[in-house]
Amino acid sequence: MSEVIDNSVSNHSGVKMVAGPAGVEGPGFFATSLDQVVGLARSKSLWPLPFATSCCGIEFMATMASTYDLARFGSERPSFSPRQADMLMVMGTISKKLGPVLRQVYEQMAEPRWVISVGACACSGGIFDTYSVLQGIDKIIPVDVYVPGCPPRPEQIIDGIMKLQDLVKNESLRRRNTPEYKALLASYGITVN
Ligand code: SF4
Repeated sequence: MSEVIDNSVSNHSGVKMVAGPAGVEGPGFFATSLDQVVGLARSKSLWPLPFATSCCGIEFMATMASTYDLARFGSERPSFSPRQADMLMVMGTISKKLGPVLRQVYEQMAEPRWVISVGACACSGGIFDTYSVLQGIDKIIPVDVYVPGCPPRPEQIIDGIMKLQDLVKNESLRRRNTPEYKALLASYGITVN
């Protein structure tokens, strides 16, 4: 079962509504699974932690500002405390010296947590194929969504966030306890409590 956005559903004021999760409906009641409800709530309230080091960070600022208005996606509340964010957005060139800092920020985030790698530098080192630049943040932390581009436009960043929303809302509540997820983190030397 997955949630479907039905653009044809609108209320009397013309505001388009998100369709509810699949479930069983009757007069005066609606029943669905806990996974569906929690997934829907999580996906519409992802709080970003912007880890911005260079030009791609400016695109993030544009994404947050009025024209693109990330608040429409429930993500208007950036957090600079890892403990109060669940969507780490890495934007910009990450030097090898900065790698341990990024890793520590990731480790300080509580589960569930997701990572978006924004722009060529974060995804692969970009044009900086040099001794001092990390050739992709997935060398040190797991990444859920990659947004290509140098820099990616705000539309691309929003597209990446919507891809992550799809992943989050369809993810099992217990995925974080699965052997596969633990094995993924273990491959980065991170243990799950
Ligand atoms: S990908 Fe391009 S725009 Fe983004 S941080 Fe690197 S050089 Fe700057």
